[in-house]
Amino acid sequence: MIPFNKPYMTGKELHYIAQSHGNFKLAGDGPFTKLCHSWMETNIGVGRALLTHSCTAALEMAAILLDIKPGDEVIMPSYTFVSTANAFVLRGATPVFVDIREDTLNIDENLVEQAITPHTKAIVPVHYAGVSCEMHTLLKIAKRHGIAIVEDAAQAIMSTYKKMPLGSLGDFGTLSFHETKNVISGEGGALLVNDKNKIAPAEIIREKGTDRSRFFRGEVDKYTWQSFGSSFLPGELTAAFLWAQLEECELILNERLNSWRRYHSLLAPFEEKGLLRRPIIPEYCGHNGHIYYVLLPNNVNRDLVIEQLKKRKVNAVFHYVPLHSAPAGKKFGRIASDMKWTDTHSQAILRLPMWIGLTEQQQQYVVDTLYKILY
Ligand SMILES: *Cc1c(COP(=O)(O)O)cnc(C)c1O
Repeated sequence: MIPFNKPYMTGKELHYIAQSHGNFKLAGDGPFTKLCHSWMETNIGVGRALLTHSCTAALEMAAILLDIKPGDEVIMPSYTFVSTANAFVLRGATPVFVDIREDTLNIDENLVEQAITPHTKAIVPVHYAGVSCEMHTLLKIAKRHGIAIVEDAAQAIMSTYKKMPLGSLGDFGTLSFHETKNVISGEGGALLVNDKNKIAPAEIIREKGTDRSRFFRGEVDKYTWQSFGSSFLPGELTAAFLWAQLEECELILNERLNSWRRYHSLLAPFEEKGLLRRPIIPEYCGHNGHIYYVLLPNNVNRDLVIEQLKKRKVNAVFHYVPLHSAPAGKKFGRIASDMKWTDTHSQAILRLPMWIGLTEQQQQYVVDTLYKILY
């Protein structure tokens, strides 16, 4: 069986975990957490990076930091993972869904302004498959209306928009290190804070509402309860694992991109024959090869294709069930545009096996098998 995903280990993970174990450093914000923070601050170029348990937790922190309240509205695509919406629903806000673009499957920036009401507090662009949203337009709209941007960059580590790292463009950015992403720690994530005024509150909310981060830096002589908060930080074992990954992130990026490009060229003749549509990458994007997908024509039964691939030992998958059509999406959210491409593409998308170590022969087999099924 060719699996859909296989977590990649760089080889140093256990070595660094053993170091934490040997040093008796197990709680959060130890030496490995600091290494991960400074890697992100330097390479992504953000004021402050804070490891969290997950991207979900980072999104929840962003919602708290933006003081999202019942009655507020947050504009986002419906074609995304549930956490994008859940983080704001938890604070009582309404997710307002708009359609995606035909080409990138990212939020259609031209539908955002008409969805703004006096209740709108934020826009959440999701960089699907590590391909950037049209950030220039979104940032302009946000500025004009005085609303925040939270980049859901869960899939977008090391991707860029006009050479600027994703996660560094909005007021906040959120990353995921879940085992299915490019750079992993099992479960894990990070909140990227670009708004300088939000750095101290972010540190406090993450540390149970205390100023423990300042205490650790020697800025205060004791730490106390300052505000509301929770525990959003991972332990050092998670950070030790993640550090082994961040050290090798160039290799991870290149390997992913090699596999992505190989699929792209192997599938070019399929597109010419009209059997499928390949991903479109606008020239402003430097992507990270997170996902390789194809869009099947609407007369092809995608579930049957997945089943037939499985019979021939290829594990391909689909996602997402659009949030506006899910039970909780209907209950908590509303739509602010027609959902043409969300509905069309979510039914047509087929994601091909993508992981580091996938061989040229395996990719050829996936493509040949797909050809037999589609042609
Ligand atoms: C994976 C993912 C998340 C959630 O990440 P976790 O680290 O699992 O919480 C959120 N948004 C998007 C777009 C994702 O792909």
